[in-house]
Amino acid sequence: MLDNVKVVLVGTSHSGNIGSAARAMKVMGLSHMVLVDPQCEVDGQAIALAAGASDIALNAKIVSTLDQAVNDCGLVVGSSARSRTLEWPMMEPRECGERFAIEGQQHPVALVFGRERTGLTNDELQLCQYHVCIPANPEYSSLNLAMAVQTLSYEVRVAHLNLVQSGYAAKSALEYPRHQDLELFYQHLEKVLLDTQFISEDQPNRVMNKLRRLFSRARPEAQELNILRGVLNAVEKQIAKK
Ligand code: SAH
Repeated sequence: MLDNVKVVLVGTSHSGNIGSAARAMKVMGLSHMVLVDPQCEVDGQAIALAAGASDIALNAKIVSTLDQAVNDCGLVVGSSARSRTLEWPMMEPRECGERFAIEGQQHPVALVFGRERTGLTNDELQLCQYHVCIPANPEYSSLNLAMAVQTLSYEVRVAHLNLVQSGYAAKSALEYPRHQDLELFYQHLEKVLLDTQFISEDQPNRVMNKLRRLFSRARPEAQELNILRGVLNAVEKQIAKK
C-alpha cells in the first residue's frame, strides 16, 4: 500500500530540498516522488543530500501541472503552514496518515507540498480535498520543505505499521472517485450553472469555489458522483429542448 502513496512537490526551487525530501521518503518506505514544474534540476546537490535515496529523486516523475500529478488519485491532501485564508476541510497529520494507510490499499493517494517561499497557491489548494497543517509554533510555523515531508511521511508509516499489525482490519469499503472524475464533474457543473444563468461568465469562480468546498466536505462516493452527473445531464436535456 505504501506503493500507492505519491509525494508531490510543487515548484521546488532548491535542488537540495528535493534530495532531502527523497531521503525523508525512503526512510519511511515511500518511493513515488512527483515534481510539478520544478524550478531546479535534480543535480549534484540533490544527489548529495539524498544520500542513499538518490534513486527516488532520479526516478521522480516530472509534470507541468498539479492536475497531471494527481489525476489518478482517489485522495489528494495539500499541506500548508498558513493560517488559512481559505476555509477548507482539514485533517490532523495523524488522521492524514491513517487515511493514507487505509485508502492506499485501494487507490493512489497524494500528499502535496508547496514552494519554499510561497507554499501552494489558492488554486492549487482548491484542487485538494483536504488540507493538513503540522501544528507547529504559531509564531514560527513554517517547516523546511523536506522536514514537512519527513513529518507527514512518518505519520503515514506509523499508520501503515498499525494497520499491518492489526491484520488490515480497517479496510475501507467505500469507492471514491478519482481526481480527474471530480474535475470533470466540476467542469460539467460550471457549464450547467452558466447555461442556466445561475452564475455569470464574468464571476464564475466565487460560487464555484464555494461549491468545491461543499463537495470536498461531503466527499461523494463514486456512485454518488455518477448520480450527480446524471442530474446535470437531465438538466442539460431540458435546456436543449427549450
Ligand atoms: N511560507 C510558505 C511556507 C512554505 S514551506 C507558506 O506560507 O506556505 C514549504 C512547504 O512545506 C509548504 O508549502 C508546505 O507544503 C510544507 N509545510 C511547511 N510547514 C508546514 C506545516 N506547519 N504544516 C504543513 N505543511 C507545512
